[in-house]
Amino acid sequence: MEKVRLRVSINQRYLELSKLVSSLGIATVCESALCPNIFECWGSGVATFMIMGDTCTRGCRFCYVKKGIPQPIDPLEPYKVAEAVKKLGLDYVTITSVDRDDLPDGGAEHFARTIRAVKDLNPGVRVEVLIPDFRGDLDALKRVVDAAPDVLAHNIETVRRLTPLVRDWRAGYDQSLKILKQAKIYNPRLITKSSILLGLGETWEEVIEAMRDLREAGVDILVLSQYMRPSPKQLPVAKVYRIEEFKELEEIGYKMGFSYVVAHPLARTSYKAREAYLEAVKRIAGHASSQSGF
Ligand code: SF4
Repeated sequence: MEKVRLRVSINQRYLELSKLVSSLGIATVCESALCPNIFECWGSGVATFMIMGDTCTRGCRFCYVKKGIPQPIDPLEPYKVAEAVKKLGLDYVTITSVDRDDLPDGGAEHFARTIRAVKDLNPGVRVEVLIPDFRGDLDALKRVVDAAPDVLAHNIETVRRLTPLVRDWRAGYDQSLKILKQAKIYNPRLITKSSILLGLGETWEEVIEAMRDLREAGVDILVLSQYMRPSPKQLPVAKVYRIEEFKELEEIGYKMGFSYVVAHPLARTSYKAREAYLEAVKRIAGHASSQSGF
């Protein structure tokens, strides 16, 4: 069996970003979720900012993010994130958040303000948002879509059968599909993305079904990765997928019509986000021109 090796190289870019992020008092999901790609991503100047604090109102059973009662949101945070993007000279930014069920709109307006602040201060920057489900509130979703992110990601995380076991009781498989589908209805040109964590006890057929459901919801970019237990408090790993299985799922994903598939044990939603976005744009444009005969 092919082993997955972590190459850790702490370069100057990583150190700069780390210093800046802590001096601005903003959180990154890279640190909070113990992402295995932190050195590679930060080292190449790509980071995922986590807005609205580091404490989540939900308790998904695979997730390492702190759970509890979150702090009030910082109204200046959108500008702090925009400033950090500028200082670091980033051209592609991913913004995500914890779930904020304590806020009437789930934090949608704060997301929208952050997207606008980043774009206003950094013309030409591409913004990807990885959003919560806003408990299925479509008006909240519209606020985010109207702020014109370049990519909207929302994760179904697991297959239908395992959703009640793996995700918080307020999440839902169909609710997540609804959010992804509706985002495309609000803006058909918006690129959408979703991730499935493998190794939580799903069958191969269930993975294929989840992929098909995402494709039917119009999702463009699919991310498949291996679940790794962050601590004994989270669910145990039920299966370690082989690299060949990831490759097979990648091929199946392309046959289903996804514009881009990231299938790798260490992939996370924002891993290689810029590459996935650029490739998806190219393939969607190629598909459109072949349809129109040009
Ligand atoms: S919603 Fe679930 S996966 Fe997301 S940060 Fe909260 S606990 Fe983690």
